[in-house]
Amino acid sequence: MYYMEYAITITPQAERQVKDTTSIPFGQQPTEHMFIAEYKDGEWHNSRIVPFTNLSMSPFALCLHYGQTVFEGMKAFLMNDGRVNIFRMDKHYDRFSKSLERMCMPQVPKGLFTEAMHQLIQLDSNWIPNDEHGSLYVRPFMIASEDRLGVKISDEYLFMIVCTPAYQYYAKPLKVKVEDKYARAADGGTGFAKCGGNYGGAYYPTKLAKEQGYDQVIWTDSKTHEMIEESGTMNLMFFIDNTLLTPPLSGTILDGITRDSLLTLAKEMGIATDVRPISHKEIQAALEAGKRVEAFGAGTAAVIAPIETIAIGGKEYNCYTREDATMYKLQKALYNVRKGMATDTHNWNYII
Ligand SMILES: *Cc1c(COP(=O)(O)O)cnc(C)c1O
Repeated sequence: MYYMEYAITITPQAERQVKDTTSIPFGQQPTEHMFIAEYKDGEWHNSRIVPFTNLSMSPFALCLHYGQTVFEGMKAFLMNDGRVNIFRMDKHYDRFSKSLERMCMPQVPKGLFTEAMHQLIQLDSNWIPNDEHGSLYVRPFMIASEDRLGVKISDEYLFMIVCTPAYQYYAKPLKVKVEDKYARAADGGTGFAKCGGNYGGAYYPTKLAKEQGYDQVIWTDSKTHEMIEESGTMNLMFFIDNTLLTPPLSGTILDGITRDSLLTLAKEMGIATDVRPISHKEIQAALEAGKRVEAFGAGTAAVIAPIETIAIGGKEYNCYTREDATMYKLQKALYNVRKGMATDTHNWNYII
C-alpha cells in the first residue's frame, strides 16, 4: 500500500550503525530516524522523516504547561520469514483518534498515519531485535506546540513518531499492592485516553508503593476502592476456576490492545472468558480458599507481566506463576501470530 496523497520527504542518515542494544534499559536508545509533521491553520504540513534530533520550541509552548499531549505505544516485530510486522496498527490508530478527540486535538488522517509508520519502520528496520522477546517499540505522539501562555486549546501541534529497540520489560514476576486511597482516574475523566496527565498523576501513589517494596499498584475505582481497574500501563487479568477474568472497559480503564488480543485468542483456544466487574474481595476470597490464582498485567510494553505477590488490605498472597500457567500459553499464542507462526485470522498483522 502506498498513499501517494501524503508526500513524506525522507532525509536518511549518512551512516547507519546499529549498536548492541541488548543491555540498554528500555526507552533509552532511539533508532536513527523520526517522523514529524506540523499542524497549523487547520492542516498538516511538512511531513518528513529526518535523523533523530532534539526539538526546539518556545518556553511558551502550550504542551509544556497544560498537558495537552497524547501518545500511543505499539510494536513492530521481525517475523520468522524475515518480513516486518506492525502489530494491530488499525486498533492503535483508532485509540489514538479517541484520545485526541478527548483532548481537543486534531485527527491525523489514517493514510498519513499509516504511511508515516510504514516508511519510518522500514527505514529503521535493522534496529528490530531478532531475539525471542525482542521488538521495535514505536511511539506515535502529539503535542500542543502553539506558543501562548494562556490556558487555551492550542491551534498548532506536532505529530511525531519515534522508535526504540525493546526486550523483556520486567525481568522477574511482580509484587503489587491493591491501592485503597489514591485513584488514577474517575468517572467522566480522561482514564480511557492515553494522555500525558494520567501518568504524571500516578507517580506519587506508585512511589509510595515502591517505598513499601512493591513494583506497582493495582488501581481501584475512585468511589469505593473495591473494584479492580488496572495497573501501571497494563490491564489486569486473572485466571481463576479455569476462567480468564478481566474488568470491563469503562471510562476509567484504557482499552488495551493486548487485553483484547488475549481475550480473543483465549476464546479460540477454548478457554472460558468472563469480562465483568471484579472486586478485590473476590480475589482475596479465592486466595484465602487456597485456590490456584493466576494474576498478570497485559500491555504492549511488557506483553504479559506475571504477578507473584499481591497485597490486599495489607495482607500478602502468592499467585501461581509456574511454567505451566495458562498466562504463558496465551502469551505464546500471541507470539505465534506476531511472528507469523500461526495464521493471522483477524488481520492483526500489517506486513511491510
Ligand atoms: C497503554 C496502556 C495499557 C495497555 O494497552 P495496550 O494497548 O495493551 O498496550 C493499559 N493501561 C494503561 C493505563 C495504558 O497506558
